[in-house]
Amino acid sequence: MIQEDYIGFTIEKQKRIALIAHDSKKHALIEWVEANKEVLKSHFLCGTGTTARLIVDEVGLPVKAYNSGPLGGDQQIGARIVEGNIDFVIFFWDPLAAQPHDPDVKALLRICAVYDIPLATNRSTADFMLTSKYMVEDYERHVINYNKVISGRLDELGNK
Ligand code: PGA
Repeated sequence: MIQEDYIGFTIEKQKRIALIAHDSKKHALIEWVEANKEVLKSHFLCGTGTTARLIVDEVGLPVKAYNSGPLGGDQQIGARIVEGNIDFVIFFWDPLAAQPHDPDVKALLRICAVYDIPLATNRSTADFMLTSKYMVEDYERHVINYNKVISGRLDELGNK
């Protein structure tokens, strides 16, 4: 059987969006969410604990809250991406401050790349993403076919 190198997954019209901001960027994210409330209200929103709570309180949109970032929230969001339950990430991270959970931040950025997830790490990218034609249609992302990689590795190891 011929196995493709990549598998397509659909990012549907109604996106499952994760919102995350480091402390120095929380104000900017809240402002951005407020400015884009009309678009964002048509999608499913989730976020790390404090960010999610601030959006609920200050903007009034429903946001499913995971744990706070330093307590594993970024990792939970990464896990939801792996499971196929989050397909769009807005992450205003602070490039000028070390975070106690730096490894988790790096892991989340990496998993977005592995799963071909649209990821904005600043406001201008978020603006471009939210005004993309793909916001109102389905989009196929392409994820490496790891079953094929595993088969190749098993073959190499002599496990037929
Ligand atoms: P927070 O987490 O929304 O709970 O502050 C964000 C982060 O630091 O990753």
